[in-house]
Amino acid sequence: MLQPVSTGHKSLADYTHLAGRPLIQEIRDLSEDLSGLRVLHLSATAFGGGVAEILYTLVPLMNDVGLEAEWQVMLGREEFYNTTKRLHNALQGNPDSPTDEEWKIYERYNALNATEISGEWDVIIVHDPQPAAIKRHVPNKASTWVWRCHIDLSTPNPEAIARMVPFIREYDASVWHVEQYVPQELRPVVAGSNPGSDGSLDGVHIIQPAIDPLSPKNMALSPEDAAFVCDQFGIDVDRPLMCQVSRFDPWKDPIGVIDAYRHVTQEMSEVQLALVGSMATDDPEGWEYFNSTMAYADGDPDIHILNNLNNVGAIEVNAFQSQADVVIQKSRREGFGLTVSEALWKARPFIGGDVGGIPLQVQDGKTGFLVSSPEECADRSLRILREPDLGKRLGRSGKEHVRRHFLTPRLLRDWLRIFTEHR
Ligand code: UDP
Repeated sequence: MLQPVSTGHKSLADYTHLAGRPLIQEIRDLSEDLSGLRVLHLSATAFGGGVAEILYTLVPLMNDVGLEAEWQVMLGREEFYNTTKRLHNALQGNPDSPTDEEWKIYERYNALNATEISGEWDVIIVHDPQPAAIKRHVPNKASTWVWRCHIDLSTPNPEAIARMVPFIREYDASVWHVEQYVPQELRPVVAGSNPGSDGSLDGVHIIQPAIDPLSPKNMALSPEDAAFVCDQFGIDVDRPLMCQVSRFDPWKDPIGVIDAYRHVTQEMSEVQLALVGSMATDDPEGWEYFNSTMAYADGDPDIHILNNLNNVGAIEVNAFQSQADVVIQKSRREGFGLTVSEALWKARPFIGGDVGGIPLQVQDGKTGFLVSSPEECADRSLRILREPDLGKRLGRSGKEHVRRHFLTPRLLRDWLRIFTEHR
């Protein structure tokens, strides 16, 4: 029932000069003691969204340094995905929580998936809320269970988080993007506990995700190739382009991006907008929101709305991010926002919503701009479009910030530290 995901092979050595030799050496030293460690990643989907993006690189690199890592995806049906979408939205602050009936559906699918875990594992890492209740059904399947949270839990719906906390509390460790996401109930009660070297407190670890600089989505694409690809989607590559790459989801606020674009075009009518969004298999609301975004664009020929059904894969995302004069991620909630690091890594001028994990990646005015409204987004876009030198400066420092903090080898190193601590 659980589907293994095939991730292919990657070699840590290939990252040496992009991430720096000392980090690679640190990883080699840590992995010596972890050789043969059996690590299973469990997640809800192998396609669409940040979790899948991360695991396609992290899992093969874990294997390359001597671990025995696998990734399996739980199976669900529409009733389960409808429930977990409501849960996801509630945990990000939506007032509408899952009903008692839906919680039963949630638990039933978790129980079913739990019985399907085969083999024995040293560590099982459960990603996000969808499979979080699996552990209680089969605690003996692993010596160490880690829950990895990828979403923005800064202001959760109290009812939904209260129902989730008991599941999370059963884990040996949990990993969060930022400290503010850790629910009060999970913070250690021992007064005066000292944070560990990575800021960890009693099994609570704060670690940010990362992007793969060598993946087709992030490897360097020449300006000519980027333009060639965008041209095929109807973009006029001689005119300025604003772009947002993200799922069609109200938290990502594509409607706000269209508003910002409309403000911009009042002053610079030649500007175009591309909204590039894939449909995740565990996101039933995606199509509905895609259609309302299309309706909001109102047939404007300079708004290009694309998804994976238009064959927008990794290279195309890369091309749009590389070609855009301004890359936007105008989220209203954002766990981390891999798209932010993806854009910065391409040294593009970037504007992001001042929420969730985005301020970790964007220092306002230095590595990009942070905004809280479509008007602010339009204002910063116009500044960037009118001052190409400003855009270049922001882009360059953004790239170095990502190199230091948000490339996959750093993430691999942090996981190896957790494995070492919890052995
Ligand atoms: N993505 C993609 N195609 C799309 C839209 C998004 O490949 O049409 C990728 C995007 O490049 C990023 C991931 O999906 O790697 C989204 O991760 P992020 O953390 O930004 O947001 P999430 O979807 O997990 O909320």
